[in-house]
Amino acid sequence: MNSVRTLKGIGEKVELLFQKAGIITIEDLLHYYPKNYDIFEEPEEIGSLSIAKLVAVEGIIEKTPVVNRVKNLQIVTTYVRDATGRIPVTWFNMPFLQKSLRGGSRYVLRGRLAYKGKQLTLEQPQIYTLADYDALKNIMQPVYALTKGLTNNTIKKAVSQALEKEEYYQRREYLPIEIRTKYSLAEYNYALRHIHFPKDMDSLILARRRLVFEEFFLFILAIRRLKEANDFTKNAYQMDESKETEKFKKNLPFQLTNAQERVWEEIKQDFKGERAMNRLIQGDVGSGKTILAVLALLYTANHGYQGAMMVPTEVLARQHYESITKLFEKYGIQKKVTLLTGSMTQKEKRLAYEEIASHKSDIIIGTHALIQENVVYHRLALVITDEQHRFGVNQRELLAEKGEAVHILVMSATPIPRTLAIILYGDLDISIVDELPADRIPIKNCVVDTSYRPKAYQFIEREVAKGHQVYIICPMVEESELMDAENVTDYAAKLQTEINSNIAIGVLHGKMKASEKNQVMEAFGQNQIQVLVSTTVVEVGVNVPNATVMMVENAERFGLAQLHQLRGRVGRGKAQSYCIFISSSDKKETMDRLEILNHSNDGFYIANEDLKLRGPGDLLGIRQSGSLEFKIGDIFSDATTLTDAAEAVSILLQQDPNLRMEENKELARVLAEYMNKNMNRLNL
Ligand code: ADP
Ligand code: MG
Repeated sequence: MNSVRTLKGIGEKVELLFQKAGIITIEDLLHYYPKNYDIFEEPEEIGSLSIAKLVAVEGIIEKTPVVNRVKNLQIVTTYVRDATGRIPVTWFNMPFLQKSLRGGSRYVLRGRLAYKGKQLTLEQPQIYTLADYDALKNIMQPVYALTKGLTNNTIKKAVSQALEKEEYYQRREYLPIEIRTKYSLAEYNYALRHIHFPKDMDSLILARRRLVFEEFFLFILAIRRLKEANDFTKNAYQMDESKETEKFKKNLPFQLTNAQERVWEEIKQDFKGERAMNRLIQGDVGSGKTILAVLALLYTANHGYQGAMMVPTEVLARQHYESITKLFEKYGIQKKVTLLTGSMTQKEKRLAYEEIASHKSDIIIGTHALIQENVVYHRLALVITDEQHRFGVNQRELLAEKGEAVHILVMSATPIPRTLAIILYGDLDISIVDELPADRIPIKNCVVDTSYRPKAYQFIEREVAKGHQVYIICPMVEESELMDAENVTDYAAKLQTEINSNIAIGVLHGKMKASEKNQVMEAFGQNQIQVLVSTTVVEVGVNVPNATVMMVENAERFGLAQLHQLRGRVGRGKAQSYCIFISSSDKKETMDRLEILNHSNDGFYIANEDLKLRGPGDLLGIRQSGSLEFKIGDIFSDATTLTDAAEAVSILLQQDPNLRMEENKELARVLAEYMNKNMNRLNL
């Protein structure tokens, strides 16, 4: 591969500067795309200049510049004049201009206008001869991201040189012609040339689209190829139909939705198939993912294996544990379910370890405690992580490593567009539960300001009188959990004085001991507490179907996806549920944001809107991971191209799974190069 050093004018020093920007080869240089473009417009008339901005003027330097010294600065000043007026010009620390700029000569000066008192001044302009400026005029000039010492001009010159020498850059088009035709993609060399030096806006758009496409295309193709290589994990626990599990399913108090049925079939196909399961179940809050996990665990147990489910909070672990044991009791299922969480006493834990190791337990539900060293499983065949976005990939893997080539099922309620899922969870098959149980009545929402609070309390009293329950969420005032706790406790105390005193109010926050939290949740579950004032600790997974009101204080402080999760705590039963978002801010953008929740209960739609507003990092809690950052493509604003690229990859792999066909040879070579270079990134 040619080093940038082979270009004229690049010596050791500049080579080092390029290296710092990650540019080593000419190929790297050509893929160092501009971050913006500058347009050299027609010079403006001096007489009509009035606002501070970047301008070009053409005129005569009135007199040879003078140099003044102010402290360490050398200020060069003169005037430039055209037929319509004159304006002062200054440069800093460029004393040589006094010699090179002769009074009476004509130049184009391009720089920023600034007010010096009342006087508009042209500061630090670039100086062009008329011919030079003419050559630049109306052509978009690339603006590159710079690192210290590296100037835009150096990069520009190097790129332009590289583009001139065919042997440096000419690469055979490697995208199959069918793909290029189908998605109207510009040719490779054309794209490279016009991304750096676009002829006009149209050519820039064409060039950019091609390069964005290829970036997504290579990424998705690489992930798919890696995934296929991984998929050869043989299914070490092939499990055929389980009559008992089907019987249990039939006996459930509700009928599975079509979406649940479909996903259950997909899960069973994995159990029966040649390869180990590696599947993500995505579904909006309340779509009923838990029952799918229960069915999978029971199916596994019925084949004599162990299954484990890890969840992010104690509260959720306990809740799952209790609902499963109850269900099993009710239907006479003789399978032992064991709970394991960090807050259990040593004695309880030891007992749990014993049950797990001796295979007394068929199903284990717990928190991170499940991946502790002391836990030894026996014939573990299935691991599930619920609310998977709350865990790191590492934790998911640690649980899987507790067994050997186990089936892996992960569940997530953060609904993300399929294309994003491909990028984030490229190594997983994806099932989507895209339907809510039929008996659900859509939640009624309102977004109000704090003056509505007394009315809200009256409303809450009425709901409680009907036998229903209520959540009130207070946000974190500060990052500190202590403040957090105070906030919730104070709020509850104040509420007690403003609301019917027969109503039992409970408090829940992250600072409480696990055992206290469990007590409160249990009391709330049994309707001994009617109003639960809580932080967002109830955000994920909590299921108390009798609760019908979710009131969120300071709703403006939460992200949309998070508010949607909170709202998901109600509307889980047969009664009409309500969500009251109280906003302490009447800023238009805040209201617009909350308005999105007000008119939609659809998690996919909301996640999409949140994505637009805040970017994927916040939504998915993956700020730290660079996996969503592309060189030129933007997963959000280029979403259509992303979808196209994903589709193109699917079609290609269908026709030529191993990229062995003659017309895909060049692509296979480029892909291999790409995978080599990006191995770190691809290991999501
Ligand atoms: P999530 O997908 O958010 O994890 P859950 O699994 O907690 O949702 O389910 C929410 C509620 O819906 C639970 O009370 C569950 O028993 C109930 N449920 C699940 N599936 C159905 C169904 N097909 N019909 C009616 N209710 C259901
Ligand atoms: Mg859930």
